[in-house]
Amino acid sequence: MRWLFFLRTIPLIIAFLIFVGCSDNFATISANFSSVKEELRESEPIGKGHVNNEKMRPKGSSAASIDFDGQIAMRHIETQTSFGPRSPESPTAKLQTLSYIRSQIPSSMEIQLHKFKANGFNGTNLWVSSRAAKKKSTTLIMLGTHWDTRSQADRDTDITKRNMSVLGANDGASGVAVLIEIAKHLHKRPPKINVDLIFFDLEDIGNIGKNAYAMGSRKFVEEHPKYRPTAGIIIDMVCDKNLRIPREHYSSVSAPEVLSGVWASADRQEADAFKDIIGGAIIDDHIPFLEVGIPVVNLIHFPFPKSWHTTDDTIKFCSATSLDQVGRVVLDFIYQYSFNY
Ligand SMILES: [Zn+2]
Repeated sequence: MRWLFFLRTIPLIIAFLIFVGCSDNFATISANFSSVKEELRESEPIGKGHVNNEKMRPKGSSAASIDFDGQIAMRHIETQTSFGPRSPESPTAKLQTLSYIRSQIPSSMEIQLHKFKANGFNGTNLWVSSRAAKKKSTTLIMLGTHWDTRSQADRDTDITKRNMSVLGANDGASGVAVLIEIAKHLHKRPPKINVDLIFFDLEDIGNIGKNAYAMGSRKFVEEHPKYRPTAGIIIDMVCDKNLRIPREHYSSVSAPEVLSGVWASADRQEADAFKDIIGGAIIDDHIPFLEVGIPVVNLIHFPFPKSWHTTDDTIKFCSATSLDQVGRVVLDFIYQYSFNY
């Protein structure tokens, strides 16, 4: 993924007023932003009043007590990185990773492989369905992450390493690790709504040659035109020891209600990595969904950590506590949706 633009107070307010609830404008802002390059800057905090707490249950209720095991999630990162980079140049590592993810998914869930071609690459999205509620609920929440890693460490401070692949402990493996553990929770404690977990391929070779970011999710949306989840959450780069997740810009513009629900969960879970301010405008796997009107938000560390797209993206900068926070918040969001159903 990449960041495009950072808003300061006045443009933020103007953009917010113009575009809130008006997803048709998404393509317009996306096009405008893609031509702008600005220094990374921090926007002002937005008020807590943006969080929809109406249906919130008090802390200490069953929604608040979710025991996510960040240490086990760390082991999923360790295993994935032990296969090496999971970029197109490493087909064996990619097969091992797919096989590993499949081996971790509870047997109560259905797994489908969505194979696709994009820019001459063969990709595989792994689509897991937890349909415990089956036809009793028409609500479907989509959780997604990318499982591939970047082919080139083109942000490495050492220019001699920039042709090397990124190991992707954070950028790739961390999201997968959290989704695997979420799958296990959903198996043990099925919600009253349906949940899909999609592991997207080919997210992270954007701007290498003529490749775009988020190719796997784009193909998924294009090739499943009837797929219309109620809402969705993409997680990406969620293990850093100093995890910091602000409200991603496009998510706040095009899926404000979902984002408010996530921040209400963060509040309930006392997850202080979630910052109640607007972050960067990020091109990630949520964008193809937003473009067809599906409200999907992006939970991503921003500003990106120093290890981003470098050979330093290793497990030494990861933390079980950070993984735990993200896992609990996403599960809380699902159980809250289920509670309100
Ligand atoms: Zn990346």
